Amino acid sequence: MEFSFSDEQQHLRRTVREFAEGEIAPHVREWDAEAHFPAEIVPKLAEMGLLGVIFPEKYGGAGFGYVEYALIVEELSRVDGAVGLTVAAHNSLCTNHIYKFGSEEQKRRFVVPLAQGKKLGCWSLTEPEAGSDASGTRTVAQKDPRGWVLNGSKTFTTNGSYADVCVAMAVTDPAKKSHGISAFIVEKGTPGFRPGKREDKLGLRASDTSEVVFSDCRVPAENLLGEEGEGFVNSLQILDGGRISIAALALGMSQGAYECAVQYAKQRKQFGKAIAEFQAIQFKLADMATQIDAARLLTYRAAWLADRAIAEGGDHEGRFTRESSMAKLYAGEAAVRVANEAVQILGGYGFTKDYPAEKFYRDVKLCTIGEGTSEIQRLVIARQLLGKS
Ligand SMILES: Cc1cc2nc3c(=O)[nH]c(=O)nc-3n(C[C@H](O)[C@H](O)[C@H](O)COP(=O)(O)OP(=O)(O)OC[C@H]3O[C@@H](n4cnc5c(N)ncnc54)[C@H](O)[C@@H]3O)c2cc1C
Repeated sequence: MEFSFSDEQQHLRRTVREFAEGEIAPHVREWDAEAHFPAEIVPKLAEMGLLGVIFPEKYGGAGFGYVEYALIVEELSRVDGAVGLTVAAHNSLCTNHIYKFGSEEQKRRFVVPLAQGKKLGCWSLTEPEAGSDASGTRTVAQKDPRGWVLNGSKTFTTNGSYADVCVAMAVTDPAKKSHGISAFIVEKGTPGFRPGKREDKLGLRASDTSEVVFSDCRVPAENLLGEEGEGFVNSLQILDGGRISIAALALGMSQGAYECAVQYAKQRKQFGKAIAEFQAIQFKLADMATQIDAARLLTYRAAWLADRAIAEGGDHEGRFTRESSMAKLYAGEAAVRVANEAVQILGGYGFTKDYPAEKFYRDVKLCTIGEGTSEIQRLVIARQLLGKS
C-alpha cells in the first residue's frame, strides 16, 4: 500500500495552494458578502488547467486523474468552497458527461473548449419536483423533424447563470420511466433557453446556483448526448465521479476550518494561558484532525479506485460507486462537525465574520445535500452492500 503523494502530486498541491492563497483568499469575504460569482478568476483557472483536469490533452485537458482532481478541489476549497464547487460542477458533471458518453464529434465540439476553459459548463438534473428522486424528471424533450424541443425547468444548477454549455436531462419516453430520460447538450444563446432565478443561499454564496428554463427550446438532433433514454442511467455514473469531488470539497473546507481553529487556539489567551493548553480544546482539535484524516483516506481511496477503473478500461459502472458514496457521506458529515467545533473554539469571534470559521460553518452544509443527500448516500451504500440494483 502507498499512502503518500508522488513528487508531481505534491508539486501540484503547492501550486494550487499558492494560487488559492494569492488570488482567491484576498477576495473571499467580499465575494461571499456580495454573493458575487467570480467570473474574473475563470480565465486564471483555465490557464492553470483546472477546468479540464480529468480530460486527456487531446481533448484540451490537463490529462490528470481523479487523485489530482481531488487534490485540486481540496486545495481550492481550503480557501473557498465556492470556487471548489464551481470547478467541480464544470469538470466532473458537465464536461465529464460529454467526455464519457458523447460522440467523437461532440467531444471535439464541446469537451475541447470546456476543458480549455474557454467555455464554462453546467449540469442540470434536479427539478423542483425531482430532487433525490431524479427519475421523477418532468422536463420533456419531444422529437420533431429538426431535432428536439425541450420544455420545463431545472432548479439548483451550479454555474447555471454563467454557463456556455448545459447538459440537461429531459423525458423522451414517459412509459420507460428511468430508461426514458435522455441527456441533451444545450448551448447558451439557443432560443428558448435561459437562466431563471438565482438562489440566495446560506453558504457557498459566490458559487452560482440557478434555475434553468427551457421554453420551446429547439436543439438539433446531434445534441442528444449518449443513447436515447439512457441519460438518467448515465447520470448515476457521472455522480459516482462527482461525489469524489464533493468529498474533496468537504475535506478542503474541513482543513481550512481546522487550521483556523488551531491558529486561534494558540494565540487566544484566557485564564492566563493560551486556550490550546486546555484539554477540552485539545480534545476537540484531536477529534477534528482524526475525522479529517479519515475523510482524506476515504476520498483518496475513492479517487484512486476511479483512476484504476479508468486505466483498466471498459465500463466503469458500479466499480467505485460504494467507495465514492462512502467518501462523500463521511467527508460531508465530518465537515459539518469540524466546522461546528471550529466556531466553538473561536467562541464569540467564531460567530463573527472577522474569522473564516463562520463562513466554513455555513458553506460545509452543502456537502450533506448536493449530489445526493446523506440519506441518499446511505441508500446507495446499502444497495451496494446488499447487492440490490
Ligand atoms: C448549492 C447547490 C448546488 C447544486 N448543484 C446542482 C447541480 O449543479 N445540478 C443538479 O442537477 N443539482 C444540483 N443541486 C441539487 C441537489 O443535488 C439536490 O438539492 C439534492 O439532490 C436533494 O434534492 P432536494 O433538494 O429536492 O431534496 P429532497 O429530495 O426533497 O429531500 C428532502 C429531504 O428528504 C430526504 N429524502 C428524500 N428521499 C428520501 C428517501 N428515499 N429516504 C430517506 N430520505 C429521503 C432527503 O435526504 C432530504 O433530507 C444543487 C443543490 C444545492 C443546494
